[in-house]
Amino acid sequence: MTDAPSYLFYQSRNPRPFLDRGEGIYLFDENGKRYIDGSSGAMVSNIGHSNPRVLAKMKAQMDKATFGYRLHFRTHPSEDLAAKTVQMTPEGLDRVFFVSGGSEAVESAVKLARQYALTQGQGTRHKVISRFPSYHGCTFGALDLTGYAPLREPFALMMEGMPKVAAPMTYLDRDNLTEEARGLKYADLLRDKILAEGPDTVLAFLMEPVGGASTGALVAPDSYYTRVREICDEFGVLLIHDEVMTGAGRTGRFLASEHWGVTPDIVALSKGFGAGYAPLGAIVAGARLVEPVLDAGGFLHGFTYAGNPLACSAGLAVLEELEEQNLIENAARMGDVLMDELRALMDRYPFIGDLRGKGLLTAFEFVADRSTMEPLEPSLNAHDRLVELAYQRGLIIYSRRTRGGTKGDHFLVAPPLIITEGQI
Ligand code: PLP
Repeated sequence: MTDAPSYLFYQSRNPRPFLDRGEGIYLFDENGKRYIDGSSGAMVSNIGHSNPRVLAKMKAQMDKATFGYRLHFRTHPSEDLAAKTVQMTPEGLDRVFFVSGGSEAVESAVKLARQYALTQGQGTRHKVISRFPSYHGCTFGALDLTGYAPLREPFALMMEGMPKVAAPMTYLDRDNLTEEARGLKYADLLRDKILAEGPDTVLAFLMEPVGGASTGALVAPDSYYTRVREICDEFGVLLIHDEVMTGAGRTGRFLASEHWGVTPDIVALSKGFGAGYAPLGAIVAGARLVEPVLDAGGFLHGFTYAGNPLACSAGLAVLEELEEQNLIENAARMGDVLMDELRALMDRYPFIGDLRGKGLLTAFEFVADRSTMEPLEPSLNAHDRLVELAYQRGLIIYSRRTRGGTKGDHFLVAPPLIITEGQI
């Protein structure tokens, strides 16, 4: 089956076995081999595979209507999902705009920020500062905000080159600062950058509260989050959180930012929001931003498939399932169990340099020398080789280079939030 000719391409050829079916945390190929979905695909399948509630809700919706263009009809699934999303997010985030994926969510957030600035007479604000390393998507707008060299380089001439600040990869620092001081140090890089660019040209700061694939579940010191919020407020810069990977419960809270009590101005969601049942994403923003834009003539932005009732019926069932099965609490508890198990591996293997994460978004980074954090020789491709070995043994994990994509190896362990202690 694997050798059947294929006319299809993604990043590479390298055909994998044909997928047959999914069940809970498991996927089965057509040869009957079982895989533990230890990365929820690409940190997507948060409530596991073939969830009966979601399937039933989608089938019921399919029998009624699969598409109704949003300019022609309101639909109950989209209205209900928007209401449920507002209910599950912190106060101050009370308007929802649907999209079909993470890159679309990021670009929508930035365009909403820009249109809001225009309503405030702040037309000079157009720069979005983001971090290096980071990942925000692969369409041109989102790619320009992404700090990951190999993905950017071929297209660099075709992008404006939005400003970047260093992500707080404090595990590489060898200074004598306390964690709190380190957090402030990295946050103040943002302040310096805003001043260097000219505060009245800076529209927004975009960050992943817990890093995703490009940094390997990077968590900043606590002081970073509150200080970044203060700096944004000081200069009237909007804070956009990219929670495409971390949102919808993955880190043990609905939004990762809730761990630090910080509310962004706009948050981007996707991945776990549709949880693999439908291509779905959203931005959630305060009415304070949205209403002036609507009053001024409307949001000049939208995707054809956005808010379609079938995808929204899936999303609604996903959020209901998260709530009723207490899956967000489970993510927090199982995250602790997973971290303990991984820490035991770290004690055994000196080439594991760092273990980090929050809830069920965890990562290992490999190093040649733990005391200096010298990375492994890039040509070893340790991350890819480990992923292949695990795949052969029926465990799916997710790897990338770290440190901006040129060196360093890490892999992510991020199973569905339904996982049990025994399965871990
Ligand atoms: N933002 C983050 C933090 C992501 O992890 C991703 C995807 O990995 C994206 C944006 C882009 O999402 P998509 O691939 O659905 O466009």
